[in-house]
Amino acid sequence: MNRIVVVGASAAGLSAVETLRREGYDGALTLIGDEPHPPYDRPPLSKQILSGEWSAQQLPLRPPADLAALDLDLRLGVTATGLDLTDRRVRLADGSQTPYDGLIVATGVRPRRLPGEGAHVLRTLDDALTLGAQLKPGSRLVVVGAGFLGAEAAAVARKLGCEVTLLEPAPVPLAHAVGTEVGRVLSQVHLDRGVELRTGVTVTEVTEEGVRLADGEVVEAHEILVAIGSLPNTAWLADSGLTVGDGVVCDQYCEAAEGVYAAGDVARWHNPLFGLPMRIEHRTNAAEQGMAAARNLLAAPETRKPFAPVPYFWSDQYDLRIQAYGYLRGHDEVAVVDGDLAERRFVAAYRRDEKLTGALSVGMPPKAVRAWRQAIAVGTAWDALVPAGTSAPDAA
Ligand SMILES: Cc1cc2nc3c(=O)[nH]c(=O)nc-3n(C[C@H](O)[C@H](O)[C@H](O)COP(=O)(O)OP(=O)(O)OC[C@H]3O[C@@H](n4cnc5c(N)ncnc54)[C@H](O)[C@@H]3O)c2cc1C
Repeated sequence: MNRIVVVGASAAGLSAVETLRREGYDGALTLIGDEPHPPYDRPPLSKQILSGEWSAQQLPLRPPADLAALDLDLRLGVTATGLDLTDRRVRLADGSQTPYDGLIVATGVRPRRLPGEGAHVLRTLDDALTLGAQLKPGSRLVVVGAGFLGAEAAAVARKLGCEVTLLEPAPVPLAHAVGTEVGRVLSQVHLDRGVELRTGVTVTEVTEEGVRLADGEVVEAHEILVAIGSLPNTAWLADSGLTVGDGVVCDQYCEAAEGVYAAGDVARWHNPLFGLPMRIEHRTNAAEQGMAAARNLLAAPETRKPFAPVPYFWSDQYDLRIQAYGYLRGHDEVAVVDGDLAERRFVAAYRRDEKLTGALSVGMPPKAVRAWRQAIAVGTAWDALVPAGTSAPDAA
């Protein structure tokens, strides 16, 4: 293999090119990214960058010298517009084509939007700087969507002295992901800090005054943040012959077609540890999957390894750290296995079928939840770990 192309110059793409070099690949290596910036970290965007604690200079994932040492053909500010699987070429917006022997797709996701003009989204450095500049004491921010991203932005805005309204269609924010009881605890944290939380409301459009709800009411705002989830960046792969369906569909090796792998937020792969197809939008997974895709691309077919991680994510809201291992979505039962919900210091465990599949901690030291990682990795039976009668009363 003499020519490898990686499309998407962020966490997964960077991890892929670094791994290729570390594994001894010394052929041509092209990294293509449509943003003008060298790879930078996204989690601080809704935390330290939005709050103004960090400057943009603290965001790059690697210093320039480390990037230079990778001997990349680094093409920033360039969009991949098409893929020809038969001729093995990536088409670029400038009209050129880049041939490859091996390809890694790491184009991530983009925010879903609402009809109407003038709302913010929060995905890129530029998004965060633009919104951050508007978060002044007394200004009124409406956040549409009370998922982790919306909740983090609401927390920062409150700390900066803004009036914040969180609008959420579900009766309890995040219930589908973490369960109703845990979702309620996480919401209460915002209510205690003076956020106005309105649940069961659907926003239909952004207007000049604010946002319009399904019943016609307009919720007024100086600034609006739309945080209603994301869509995989796969438009450039339409007609390529790759299977695309809520992400680039891959097998357990992260392979989408012969010599074509996908990694990070854009990849929907089969995780054999859970026996499920998944697409994970977490920072750690992007790096781990970039690594796995790169190794499998270089490996002989019989030495490839399935990508079977226990996913991990964290979220910071006010002074609380939320951490989770495993796959919480679609759980059948939640049980508090350490600490106390009411004190907002606890570990909750998640069951799917008869197995432990996830654990989430709030306000606990990292080791309290890390201990559960291995139990999830080996597919521990629920009954062996969770005493009967500790379940929270809901199953999401
Ligand atoms: C504000 C924010 C806060 C977050 N906080 C957390 C957190 O606390 N914890 C956590 O675990 N995760 C968090 N995440 C998620 C985490 O940042 C992502 O999982 C991670 O960035 C995914 O990396 P990626 O490389 O797969 O995709 P991305 O980071 O999305 O990168 C994909 C890159 O490809 C580029 N691209 C797209 N299409 C093309 C094309 N056609 N041609 C060329 N380039 C293209 C994109 O512009 C982008 O630069 C957060 C994300 C955001 C946005």
